[in-house]
Amino acid sequence: MSKRDYYEILGVTKSASADEIKKAYRKVAIQFHPDKNPGNKEAEEKFKEAAEAYEVLSDADKRAQYDRFGHSRGNGGFRGHEMNMDDIFSQFGDIFGGGSPFDSFFGGGGGRSRTRKGSNLRIKLKLTLEEIANGVEKKIKVNRLVQADGVTFKTCPACQGQGQVRKVVNTMLGQMVSASTCSSCGGSGQIIDKRPPGVDNSGLVSKEDVISVRVPAGVGDGMQLSMSGKGNEAPGGGIPGDLLIQIEEVEDKVLKRDGNNLIYDLHISFIDAALGTSVEVPSVGGKVRIKIDPGTQSGKILRLRGKGLRDLNGYGTGDQLIYINVWTPKRLTSEERAKLESLKQSPNFQPSPEAGEKGFFERMKEYFG
Ligand SMILES: [Zn+2]
Repeated sequence: MSKRDYYEILGVTKSASADEIKKAYRKVAIQFHPDKNPGNKEAEEKFKEAAEAYEVLSDADKRAQYDRFGHSRGNGGFRGHEMNMDDIFSQFGDIFGGGSPFDSFFGGGGGRSRTRKGSNLRIKLKLTLEEIANGVEKKIKVNRLVQADGVTFKTCPACQGQGQVRKVVNTMLGQMVSASTCSSCGGSGQIIDKRPPGVDNSGLVSKEDVISVRVPAGVGDGMQLSMSGKGNEAPGGGIPGDLLIQIEEVEDKVLKRDGNNLIYDLHISFIDAALGTSVEVPSVGGKVRIKIDPGTQSGKILRLRGKGLRDLNGYGTGDQLIYINVWTPKRLTSEERAKLESLKQSPNFQPSPEAGEKGFFERMKEYFG
C-alpha cells in the first residue's frame, strides 16, 4: 500500500505555516477521533495517519527531511505506524493544551493519579464493661492483604500503562470526553505478570498480623475506631487502607449501661429498709459500701457521683445509680407469719406517703428528663 502524502492527509499546501499545520491537524483529529467513531476501522486508520503526518510536519527537521526524501527516507522511514494511540493522545497535550476549548473534549489536563489506596479492613472487637470503663490496650490478630514477594508486573494492555481510559459522552453541549480509571489495572497502569501460588490477581497475599489497638475509656457498642494505614496494602504499592474496628460491648450481668451512667438493681429486705443498714454494691472501680437510711422506700434511687463511665470526649464522668427494690418475702413460716400479724394493726405499718414524696414517674423524670 503506497503511503499518502503527509500534506494531502492534513489538507494543507507544502508552504503551510506551522500554525496552519496545527489547525489542520486539529480539524482532522477531531473528525476521525476514535471516541467519535467507535468501531470504525477506517476512521481509526485516518486518525493514525493524521497523527503520523502531524508528527513529521510539526517537527522542522523531520519536515525538511520529508520535503527532500519523501516517505523513502534512508534509514527505515519515519516512525509513523509505530505510534500507538497513547502516543497520539499524549501529542494532544501540545496541540490542544493551554486552556483551549478542546481540553475538555480530549480529557486534557491529565490529572492522572497512580496513587492507589488499599481497601479498608473491618473487624469487630468485643469489650467488657471493665475494659470500657478503664480503657484498654488490645492486641488483635488480623489477616491483612500485603504485597507478596516474587510478583512481577507488566504494563497494562488495556490502558497502555496510563491508568485511565477515555470515553466520549454525547451531551447537549456536544461531545465530552471523560477520563475514567482503567478497570483492568485499577489505575496503576500495571498488571501482574507472574505471581507465586496464594497471591491474588492484585499481587497481594493474606498475612496474619498482630496489631496493638489503644481503646479509650468510654467507648460504646457500635462505635467505630479507625486506624489509618493499618488496613490492606494497595496493589502495586500505594497507601494502605484503614483498619476499622467496630466495638461490641459485652453486656454486663450486674451493671447496666445507660450512656455514661451505670445502673445497679439493689434488693434489700423490708426489715433493712425499715431499720436502715449499710451494704456493699459492685461498681466498675470495685466494691463500694453504701448506707441505707432507716425508712427507705422501695423504688428510691441512690446516686454514686462519678462512679459511672468517663465520657469518651472528656465531658466528665457519669454516675452509678442504685435502684432500691424492697424485697417482699414469698414464703413465711407460721412463726414469721404470727410476728407479722402482730404488727399488722400498728399505725406505722400503714402506707402514708408524705405529700412531698416523689412517685415513680417523678423520679424517672428527675433522672432521665
Ligand atoms: Zn490499565
